[in-house]
Amino acid sequence: MAADIVLETLLDAREVPTPPAAALRVLEIKNDPEASINDLVEAVQQDPSLAAKILSTANSPVYRRGDEVTSVDRAVALIGFRSVTTIALAFSVASTMPGSGSVAGIPMSTFWTRSLLTASAARLASRSLAPQLSEEAFFVGLVAGLGRVVMGMVIPDHYEPLATEHEGWPSLASEHATFDFSSAVTTAGLLRKWGMPEMFAAAADLIETVPSAGGDGSDESEIARIVRLSMAVTTFYVEEGDGWVLRELIAHALEYGLSPEAVDELLDATRDNVQELAEQFELAINGASYESLVANARAQLVELSLQTDAELRAESDRRAELEVEKAQLEAEARNDPLTGLFNRRAFDEQFDQNLSLRIRDPKVFAKPMGIIMIDLDHFKSVNDTHGHDGGDAVLVKLADVLRVTTRTEEIVARFGGEEFILLAPSATEEELLRAAERIRAGIELMEVELPGGGYLKVTASLGAAVLETATTADDGTMLVKAADQALYAAKANGRNQVQLGHIGA
Ligand code: GH3
Ligand code: MG
Ligand code: MG
Repeated sequence: MAADIVLETLLDAREVPTPPAAALRVLEIKNDPEASINDLVEAVQQDPSLAAKILSTANSPVYRRGDEVTSVDRAVALIGFRSVTTIALAFSVASTMPGSGSVAGIPMSTFWTRSLLTASAARLASRSLAPQLSEEAFFVGLVAGLGRVVMGMVIPDHYEPLATEHEGWPSLASEHATFDFSSAVTTAGLLRKWGMPEMFAAAADLIETVPSAGGDGSDESEIARIVRLSMAVTTFYVEEGDGWVLRELIAHALEYGLSPEAVDELLDATRDNVQELAEQFELAINGASYESLVANARAQLVELSLQTDAELRAESDRRAELEVEKAQLEAEARNDPLTGLFNRRAFDEQFDQNLSLRIRDPKVFAKPMGIIMIDLDHFKSVNDTHGHDGGDAVLVKLADVLRVTTRTEEIVARFGGEEFILLAPSATEEELLRAAERIRAGIELMEVELPGGGYLKVTASLGAAVLETATTADDGTMLVKAADQALYAAKANGRNQVQLGHIGA
């Protein structure tokens, strides 16, 4: 439809707002290594509406320490040079947007409600996700919607149908589908054109694409993911969604590494904080429409919050239950229920991990990797004589013996039936044979209390083998096979003994 519209030429259009004087002055100060705090204070004081916003920020719960701050220089000292420049830039950039009316089907009341919500949420979310970037996230949150209005100003014939179709606020995806670029990218272009710090523009560019769990860890990707989460918070407050928005939000939040409780707090805090931010803007924007917007937004937020709290609690309880179930299932999947030892699957996992470590870095362990296979002697006759329960009692006791005779770094598992396996991640042949002998003797000494009364003694045969160097997964298979063949030799040689096997023998 509008494939001939190119972002660069769009931003060169006459209709694109010019950067405000205060922003330019603040930028100059920010970029001047010689600039002092006094220069910043002066620049802020020259713009009364900006000064009022900085003062009000200093007195907000986020920054306030003790007495009310009434002078700009104290406010700057409290908030800090870097944060004040960022906040001042955010406010002055946002102030280029009309305070009321509508632009190409975008009601400015919608723009302001969304921008303030996103900015508040971004500042609050970054407290737990990236505290050092909270003002930068606030900036990008506040101005992220600018691109929509700019697109509306420059290409109203193209933008208005889309805006009308999407109730005044097309999604980034729908913009992309129509124009091949979104308003987030337009915002980034605008910030670059205005000479704003590149970090802000780069963050705006990444909003659509950065993974929720985190991008490359750069500041801009952190800001971008925080702003996207904040946009979801905004959607929650602005769009009616029968709880689906909330569920989406919680799902997102978990990807971001936030708990349902943290989401709960974020929603509450955003609601409280946005009112303050709205008041700060009331200072600069006249007209009954804005006041009614604020009142309207407040009413909406309060109403929604009541519903939200209840839903969130139910959701959070459900999640806690699921966590417990999941932990149980995971434990069941890894442990043998009779002996409590690792099962074969868990052992294979550990074995593969150890093997890949060695393959990747042959020097990771100083000594070879060893395997001991353990098989009870004449176990069938134990079952035959003492019943299956008697057999089980032997297996349980054997597991106890294995637990106490092995070292912490060794991994023991029930390999199947009455066969057990031990992995020594780093052991010489001699050490492995000594370990096997310790186990053999431990089994020979053990006395199993039978369920029907009385005691029983058993023996086991063991096969051991070591792997000096590992280059492929096949080496692991060969190692287990060598231990198994040694076990067979121990059986053939009269049982109750240890035999050493050799790979390829
Ligand atoms: P060998 O000395 O040659 O190993 O003789 P064996 O009798 O131990 O021979 P085999 O390995 O063929 O027999 C293993 C028996 O272990 C067969 C099976 O009934 C018994 N068994 C396997 N799993 C369990 C279990 O969970 N509980 C009980 N009680 N017995 C089991
Ligand atoms: Mg056996
Ligand atoms: Mg067997």
